[in-house]
Amino acid sequence: MEAPSVLAAFRLVLRKHKAQREESMRLVTHWRFRRDSFVLVLTGLAVLFNAMLVGAEIVQVPNPPLKIFISVDMEGISGIGTPKMTNGTGKDYALGRELMTEDVNAIVSAIFEFGPAEVVVNDSHGDMQNLLHTRLDERVKYIQGHIKPLGMVQGLDESFDAAIFVGYHARVGTKDGFLAHTGSGSVRGLWLNDVEVGEGGMNAHYAGAHGVPIVLASGDLTFTRQFRELVNTRTVVTKEAVGSLVAQLHHPAEVHQRLRATTHEALEAITNTQPLDVTEPVTVRIRFATTTRADILQSIPGVSRIDGITVAYEAQTMTEAYKLIRLMYKFVSW
Ligand SMILES: [Zn+2]
Repeated sequence: MEAPSVLAAFRLVLRKHKAQREESMRLVTHWRFRRDSFVLVLTGLAVLFNAMLVGAEIVQVPNPPLKIFISVDMEGISGIGTPKMTNGTGKDYALGRELMTEDVNAIVSAIFEFGPAEVVVNDSHGDMQNLLHTRLDERVKYIQGHIKPLGMVQGLDESFDAAIFVGYHARVGTKDGFLAHTGSGSVRGLWLNDVEVGEGGMNAHYAGAHGVPIVLASGDLTFTRQFRELVNTRTVVTKEAVGSLVAQLHHPAEVHQRLRATTHEALEAITNTQPLDVTEPVTVRIRFATTTRADILQSIPGVSRIDGITVAYEAQTMTEAYKLIRLMYKFVSW
């Protein structure tokens, strides 16, 4: 039978084609599965290897650089033992500037030995043009000049990891404080939230309000004792007062060594150092040497007269308090 045999042959061909197609599909599926498995195994190995490296600390996630703010006053700098050395027209002021620059450089070199850092240095004495900036460690950013609303803490904000106060002195009226004063000769006393503070205490309040701890402070022995009554920090003693105008000096080279070593210690312990706890609003009370200054300042809205030489103010923030205090003792004069 001719017709059925042709049909059978045709069916046979069709079946063969189908079988071939199925075989090739089976092969493709097989190879796809093997390729996917291979990729999966490779990915797994990569993840495992990475975890091993991180576990073994071979791969280190880089830390952002430490941000350190340094405020530098002059009376407490190593090697400075007379008022004239801190005065622009005085004997040995040029040497005073060198000594100030070297104290800062000792600390800055220790910071950069510790690790990558961003360091801002704020000149904080008198007209705030004292450091020899061409001889400062060239890795720092330097703020110079004194018409700045935040004075000794200009440039400090919550982005900093720590602050360091260099060359500081005790507050006005302190026995055995070398060149002790607060702000200027016109101030007899300053209280923040009823706590008496000097420049160190006032600046620590500002730093504290911005969540920045003070990790190190240097100055004369009496300053360091007084400052640690308020702030839990490390201090380096640079001299001991023999009365308010005379000091027995520690040699600058020896002070530099201690500044470097203490900076290292301070940075090692940076995460354990807490900022000063500051309650806002802040009550400011400031007593002046003369009644005339209080006569003038009582005209500022919100300022009240406490007695002949004392005024008070409630500031909403420590920043507001700081600016007003600076205005009162420095930019208003009579
Ligand atoms: Zn000062």
